[in-house]
Amino acid sequence: METKDKMLRGICADRYRPEKIPDSVDTIVIGSGMSGLTSAAVLSRMGQRVLVLEQHYVAGGGSHMFQLKGGLHFDSGLHYLVPYSGLLMWLATGGNEMPLRFERIGEPDGTFDRIALGSEPPFAIKHDEGHLPDLYARFPDRRADIDEFLRVSEQVLKRFPLFVMSKAFPAWLQKPWHRYVLGETWQRYAGRSLKEVLQEITDEPLLAGLLAGPWMDTGAPPDRASFLLGACVARGLAIEGGAYPVGGSQELAKCLVPVITGAGGRVLVRAAVEEILVDTSNDRATGVRLADGTLVACKRVISSVGYHNTFGKLVSEDVTERLEIPRRLPIGNSCGFIMANIGLRGNAEELGLTSANLWYHPTREDGDMFGAVDDFMANPTDPDQDPMIMVTFPSIKDREGAETYGDKTTCQILCMAEHAWFARYADLPTRRRGAEYKALKKEWGERLVALLLRFYPQLEGRIELVDVSTPLSIEHYLGANEGGAVGLDQTPERFTDWRMVERLDARTPIKGLWLTGQDTVTCGQPVVQGAGLITAFRVLGLQQSLQYLARTLPPIVRSLVQKRRRSRLDSADLDSMFRRDHRGGRGAGHRRAGPDDASVQGDPLGDAHVGSNDALPDARTGL
Ligand SMILES: Cc1cc2nc3c(=O)[nH]c(=O)nc-3n(C[C@H](O)[C@H](O)[C@H](O)COP(=O)(O)OP(=O)(O)OC[C@H]3O[C@@H](n4cnc5c(N)ncnc54)[C@H](O)[C@@H]3O)c2cc1C
Repeated sequence: METKDKMLRGICADRYRPEKIPDSVDTIVIGSGMSGLTSAAVLSRMGQRVLVLEQHYVAGGGSHMFQLKGGLHFDSGLHYLVPYSGLLMWLATGGNEMPLRFERIGEPDGTFDRIALGSEPPFAIKHDEGHLPDLYARFPDRRADIDEFLRVSEQVLKRFPLFVMSKAFPAWLQKPWHRYVLGETWQRYAGRSLKEVLQEITDEPLLAGLLAGPWMDTGAPPDRASFLLGACVARGLAIEGGAYPVGGSQELAKCLVPVITGAGGRVLVRAAVEEILVDTSNDRATGVRLADGTLVACKRVISSVGYHNTFGKLVSEDVTERLEIPRRLPIGNSCGFIMANIGLRGNAEELGLTSANLWYHPTREDGDMFGAVDDFMANPTDPDQDPMIMVTFPSIKDREGAETYGDKTTCQILCMAEHAWFARYADLPTRRRGAEYKALKKEWGERLVALLLRFYPQLEGRIELVDVSTPLSIEHYLGANEGGAVGLDQTPERFTDWRMVERLDARTPIKGLWLTGQDTVTCGQPVVQGAGLITAFRVLGLQQSLQYLARTLPPIVRSLVQKRRRSRLDSADLDSMFRRDHRGGRGAGHRRAGPDDASVQGDPLGDAHVGSNDALPDARTGL
């Protein structure tokens, strides 16, 4: 197992040398994040020789893991996701078995996120939206507001797959689709900010703060992010269930790279692309120029490095000018994060920790979270203004890998941050940015650790390592334009302004140059896997895409049907046991809990209890 792991990690770290470039490359993919690798895997399975070029020292983009002192591993851009990531991975790799397992994170009662607003007790968010009864109970006079939020977010979430699907169509078909299929409701909700829609739904500030949920996932403050993204993170995660890949986030790349190399392709790291070559006689992409000057020819190029990197940096100015391609869109870049990567002495049990995440959002005195976010973003160094943070524990989320950490636990604290706060150090070389930058990182580290200890006082004296990264790290290691953690800002117009939607289409005005990744659909690992599939299908065309699906889907469907049958049998067994042992009781099953379920939450043994949102601190987490 260990040898296999080393071999596969080797595949993810295949260092570029010119002689490693395969002969007659069909497709070059720039960037090895989940979108690029997914596109590359699909095209490889259709017989293409694909060369993936990655500037970092390891493949995986936002799903790569990095190692710090003491061999501790941390996530770069995957803290949790929804389990259908596994299905999308399977669609890219084919085969009879899902290549990677995802396990729900959290606690036995389903809690996977806790949201602490100001000095309010943390509110537990549960799988299958099991927390809704607690939400109704916490705001008994605001039932109508909660119902309205559920109604509106359902409206927009129902349309989200239709929006994603539209990206698979040629642009001429996307336009009427936007107008007639996504329609007015899409414009009304995806076309406005999270803050605007929530403030329309409720004037109770604490409720609005809780409904905004883990909004930092959108990479933008709530007055910038589209309500669509807010609904995806606040409800999508709870409905689908927050999950983590077994073995850690690096496993995603490990599944895809062998598919590409197995078809004669290559995934090379430390291979920064400096230019996309375009034949000006016919405006066709013909290859790339690497940082060492090497030219590689190919039939087509797929860029997964974002709109601004692609057209603002990699395509020459004379080409963009002639074809009237804006080098920059009127949408800014998303925020970055300051991240404290922390090593703790002791395992989860000893430290009283679980795999649930904690979100802390400061509020103003009247409970207004949005105002407090504005205050912090306007004056981030004000020591009296708490930053908003997410706390997560990679080594605990990876249950199977837990023993490899021995008596250590890893923790990451993320705090939303603008690149501009660190811009004066951006031109200095990484790791040699000087004493001032070092001191600034140290200050942030201390501030974030103090917040950690406020919520987890039991960690006092257990901290062995604190390593702080900034948006400059995201810019350097993920090649992100201006350190934007999730690419272009997730603003309303990129989903509803047709001129922006068209610019972010997978097909570009340069023949043979395609886009994929978070700028083409939206951010999040599963979504970019979808973006990768879509770009590959657009490249293949209808006939070959159908061939691909005809080959890939039957084993998946067969396996899912068998699994479903097995689980029906299992649940029939459970059901009969249940009826035998608990006659007169009732199982809550997986139906979404409604307002009246507040006192009888999903306990198969029929013991009624209200979840853990009763304002009592949780003994194990210290919250
Ligand atoms: C700190 C952080 C936390 C996040 N948390 C989550 C989370 O919990 N769950 C979730 O689902 N999503 C999360 N995300 C978002 C998620 O990571 C991204 O949406 C996703 O990685 C985007 O995938 P992609 O393929 O579009 O691009 P990326 O994964 O960014 O891949 C692009 C790749 O291109 C490479 N590249 C750039 N320029 C060049 C060049 N010139 N030549 C060669 N290679 C180049 C980069 O090095 C990078 O590897 C997080 C992101 C960050 C930064």
